[in-house]
Amino acid sequence: MPPLEEYVGEISSVWDTRMLTNAAPKHRKLEDKLKTYLEADRLKLFVNGHSALESLIRAFGLTGEVITTPFTFASTTHAIVNCGLRPVFCDIRSDNFTMDVACIEPLITEKTSAIIPVHVYGTACDVDGIGKIASKHGLKVIYDAAHAFGVRVRGRGIAAYGDASMFSFHATKLYHTVEGGAAAFKEEEMDVRLSALRDFGMTGPERVEYVSGNGKMDEFRAAMGLCNLRHIGETIQKRKHACERYDRQLSGINGIRTLPAQPGVQKNYSYYPILLNGYELSRDELRAELARRGITTRRYFYPPTCDFPCYRREYGAAAVPVARYISDNVLCLPLYTEISDEEVDYVCAALRRL
Ligand SMILES: *Cc1c(COP(=O)(O)O)cnc(C)c1O
Repeated sequence: MPPLEEYVGEISSVWDTRMLTNAAPKHRKLEDKLKTYLEADRLKLFVNGHSALESLIRAFGLTGEVITTPFTFASTTHAIVNCGLRPVFCDIRSDNFTMDVACIEPLITEKTSAIIPVHVYGTACDVDGIGKIASKHGLKVIYDAAHAFGVRVRGRGIAAYGDASMFSFHATKLYHTVEGGAAAFKEEEMDVRLSALRDFGMTGPERVEYVSGNGKMDEFRAAMGLCNLRHIGETIQKRKHACERYDRQLSGINGIRTLPAQPGVQKNYSYYPILLNGYELSRDELRAELARRGITTRRYFYPPTCDFPCYRREYGAAAVPVARYISDNVLCLPLYTEISDEEVDYVCAALRRL
């Protein structure tokens, strides 16, 4: 969180404008600053990332089937299903857990309208491979970039790739507005549509053109976003320091794999997942042992979304063996901006001893 005085200073002008929501001044200012920071052609703020993703799917008028990954948070799959589309699950790569491009083409049918991959943990997808397949088959590409705030690929903000990207500014993400999110996109005509879609489908005071919902971000969240954006450089630096400390200590432990570096990709250090592969304990045994030592970890993501109770009857037969394997063997270690060297060392020592 930003210093309290900074936030109080930021919100005090709301008592002058008396404008609380509906794309008011702080909202517009944050939209502008984030567009610049993320190097997006165009950007719209939303009350959360999920709402931004659903609105993007509606704005592109997608139909039929969407090829996506099951190794993600519930939101990605829910957004597709809530929009009346059918998710088609593509397996992931075992090295960096993003969509395996070699598995995409066999899943394309005449009903396929888009690909929705996820830059999971801030790892960039194979944007060139996905882009090539999409243009060959005339498919839209919407990236779930909820984890990828500030990631750059070959010197360009990650929003430069695909037709659009969704960012999440939830409190647990690298950069937050308490709850919040954004849609970054390229086409000008999407601008009007997305503005309407985040406001009940209204295009005028008495004109409702689209079936939609409410996705507007208010001034208090925008103020939190303006404050946190001033500190984002320092936030990333501190997390980089912690991640590099983890890297150095974990590289010597048998049975633990960490995410490989990606040439040309500037990381954001948002998560620190490890993959167990020949370690002494199973993932769940390790998690329990760490919990006994006061170390909280997350099975992130477990299970793959196609195996959720609400999806498994229809999609549980999805052929995604790598996603299931990763989901059974991955564990996210503690990582937060203020984590100390001693805390990182304590976690690493426990992993070594166990
Ligand atoms: C957090 C998250 C979302 C949803 O974002 P919200 O802002 O919480 O709605 C979607 N996809 C992924 C991969 C996420 O981690």
